[in-house]
Amino acid sequence: MTMGDERFEAGWKFDNSYARLPQLFATSTNPTPVRSPQLVILNEELATSLGLSIEALQSEEGVAVFAGNSIPEDAQPLAQAYAGHQFGNFTMLGDGRAVLLGEHITPQGERLDIQLKGAGRTPYSRGGDGRASLGPMLREYIISEAMHGLGIPTTRSLAVVTTGESVIRENHLPGAILTRIATSHLRVGTFEYVLQWGNVEDIRVLAEYTLQRHYPDIEEGQDRYLHLLQEVIKRQAMLIAKWQLVGFIHGVMNTDNMAIGGETIDYGPCAFMDIFDPAQVFSSIDRQGRYAYGNQPNIGGWNLTRFAEALVPLLHEDQSEAVELAQDALAEYATLYYGHWITGMRSKLGIFNEEEQDEILIKDLLSLMHKYHVDYTNTFLALTFNTVEDTVLSGTPEFTAWYTLWQERLGRQQESKDAAHELMRNSNPAVIARNHRVEEALAAAVDHGDYSVMEQLLEVLSNPYAHTPEQAMYATLPADSALPYRTFCGT
Ligand code: AMP
Ligand code: MG
Repeated sequence: MTMGDERFEAGWKFDNSYARLPQLFATSTNPTPVRSPQLVILNEELATSLGLSIEALQSEEGVAVFAGNSIPEDAQPLAQAYAGHQFGNFTMLGDGRAVLLGEHITPQGERLDIQLKGAGRTPYSRGGDGRASLGPMLREYIISEAMHGLGIPTTRSLAVVTTGESVIRENHLPGAILTRIATSHLRVGTFEYVLQWGNVEDIRVLAEYTLQRHYPDIEEGQDRYLHLLQEVIKRQAMLIAKWQLVGFIHGVMNTDNMAIGGETIDYGPCAFMDIFDPAQVFSSIDRQGRYAYGNQPNIGGWNLTRFAEALVPLLHEDQSEAVELAQDALAEYATLYYGHWITGMRSKLGIFNEEEQDEILIKDLLSLMHKYHVDYTNTFLALTFNTVEDTVLSGTPEFTAWYTLWQERLGRQQESKDAAHELMRNSNPAVIARNHRVEEALAAAVDHGDYSVMEQLLEVLSNPYAHTPEQAMYATLPADSALPYRTFCGT
């Protein structure tokens, strides 16, 4: 193979702005090479949109890059420093098993982080081995692509390679590396880290960097840091509302897992809810229910408060004025969140206009779902396709009463029944990444090297609002769906 050979030019175009930040922010770190890398999945559609050559990415040299065995020209690998509140407690963290190769500039001029997750030890690894196992990396791949299909801002997954090495968890597992694409890996925890270890100038540098990368339209001037805070709040309010609307439970909303750019990041013990239950948690270590479904909007606010605290020194010369500005901005979060949530819920019910009683109508339906232990996604599908008689709810007098009220509500808007149906089709996914389907795909891949189950699942998840007959097959629940599903933190 000749490196200059056209066929092996993957098309990477690196420009590494993060590497140009002051030393405090990151440490140059190369990935640790692995024994015998093998490409097990490549996101061809994503690769193409990034301006990369699929053929070259699949070549030995291309795979060596995904494995950390070869560094593309112009990449400047580093591990990012950050801190974070984990389950409410402040901790020093940093990329303990991820290496940022650099920022790739796409043909459209977009700047995207290319990160190898599971690439070996870094100065921030603490006791960890810096590695990841295959199951969790494939899991992140599936769920992140499912989120993308649902139109929810998220990091993307470009490829997974196996390393040919074992990682030791409860037992020996096959090692793997995920190539993750993000508009940036700036986290609330990045700001917390700089607040803790840097000075005001460092915070300004970080804020300026964030503005340049994510909010270039915010104008020069004294208010720009307040605008930054307001914009980050807006994006999180929208993001978390979108999670709630599809029943997504992140599982570990620590501040280091909240991205400043507003993308969903760090898929660990996350899952989509089957049976509606606001108290549902998916992380086996979240015994208090801190990150339960119904608590996600509150935690979003809590995390944003940590972000605001880091910005306070930039908001006003007078500290008490600065705190007041931050508080006013934070007070908007709940309103913004509620606006997105109720608009989304109205759409899920085919409602175009606004009536004050809508909130009660929505909450009553959710209460019935909770009371009768019914599936969240499928209940909305049944309402969309008028198949409610097949659901457990239909036999109950409360639901009959609710249904009448809903029909009357639809009758009080100008839009036709057809228009309402169309809105519902486009607002209620035919398919979500159900736990049992994800587990089935992972088992085939990890235990048998059969990636066809995963490929099929990815295919139906890629366009969840298509409502194809094949997708209907993926809407069925597992036999034991009443059992609480848990993902364990051995990621
Ligand atoms: P997470 O729970 O994935 O958000 O990770 C929390 C922190 O633990 C981050 O700083 C990770 O980089 C670090 N970490 C997780 N797994 C490992 C590992 N196997 N080796 C080193 N650091 C790790
Ligand atoms: Mg994390």
